[in-house]
Amino acid sequence: MESKGKGGGYLLSLEGIRELFDRLREKYRVIAPKLKDGLIAFSDVDNFESLPFGYKNVEAPGFYSLERSGGYFTYTHPYNSFKNFLHPPELTLIKVKKENGKLSFQVHIQEEALCLFDIRACDLSALRVLDLVFLHKNPHPDPYYAGLRKGLFVVAVNCTYATSTCFCSTMGTGPEVKEGYDLLITELSEGFLVEVGSERGGEILEKVENKSDAERRHFKEKAQRLGETEATMRVHFEKEGLQERLYGRMDSTYWEHIEKRCVACTSCTQACPTCFCFDILEKNQLDLKESQRVRVWDSCFSPSFATVHRFNLRQSVHSRYRQWLMHKFAYWVDQFDCFGCVGCGRCITWCPVGIDIREEVRRIAYA
Ligand code: SF4
Ligand code: SF4
Repeated sequence: MESKGKGGGYLLSLEGIRELFDRLREKYRVIAPKLKDGLIAFSDVDNFESLPFGYKNVEAPGFYSLERSGGYFTYTHPYNSFKNFLHPPELTLIKVKKENGKLSFQVHIQEEALCLFDIRACDLSALRVLDLVFLHKNPHPDPYYAGLRKGLFVVAVNCTYATSTCFCSTMGTGPEVKEGYDLLITELSEGFLVEVGSERGGEILEKVENKSDAERRHFKEKAQRLGETEATMRVHFEKEGLQERLYGRMDSTYWEHIEKRCVACTSCTQACPTCFCFDILEKNQLDLKESQRVRVWDSCFSPSFATVHRFNLRQSVHSRYRQWLMHKFAYWVDQFDCFGCVGCGRCITWCPVGIDIREEVRRIAYA
């Protein structure tokens, strides 16, 4: 069979998908969804059997559970984000050692061949957002993010199901994956449509034996399935003019209502695939022979985040919530020419008091 370049497609059986996974494992450290502690989590995955086939996640504000399902890629995105691997919660930047009275410095840039296997449209958009933040719109491109991002191989999967917290269609990021992948999988009634998005994607797929040429009816079924998924999601607010509307509501008393519910736990910022704020800490050994400079996630909800010279510029919880929401939907547009929210819904599911960012945007901007 002749190999296909970008835009080409094959139909694979489950055995073919397994073969593809195993070939990727030979070359890459594979990060994929896996069942873990009653959740579907992005994790290191060594074998195909670990993929959470036969499950679907059911989510609502402050709620998450798993149910059995009748297919394979029947869940949405994992509870955590791919961000954990490209911008880890704790990352050593520099190691300093003292030997014979001399200091030596080792810059700790990791370069690893990573593969994200089964990333959904919202998260793929979040990956593009992080690329802007750390690399393309950053006057000082981040070498640590660049090291992990450089060789990243992306296998995307189209969602044929949406939870009640998904709002990718409102943000224009999904459910269809349109760009940024090496390979794209859509589960169909006859098997799995696999489309080629890059030369290296085509090369790896060429080695898979269990495949046949995709036909027109397979692409038709893909469009139908994506249309059905989108139809289950409603449009929560109008994006056009949203930034200006929000700027006009900076002094609204509505923000104060949020203070009655938000407990400033930081859960939303940790779950969010685009939140990138961090702090830099020094970890010194007590004998002062070794020290590490470490980058750790921070959150605009934590009291220390806006503390300057021991004065906290955002003392009230509502001012921190306003910072979070305004950054996602207004300041981010000024900084990076895109929204900082991709509509994944994680912050809604993982908010312990069930604050729904879609409702807050609607009430603040349009009430
Ligand atoms: S703000 Fe919420 S819905 Fe938007 S990308 Fe972050 S976690 Fe997802
Ligand atoms: S909005 Fe919810 S998840 Fe975010 S800090 Fe407040 S209580 Fe925590």
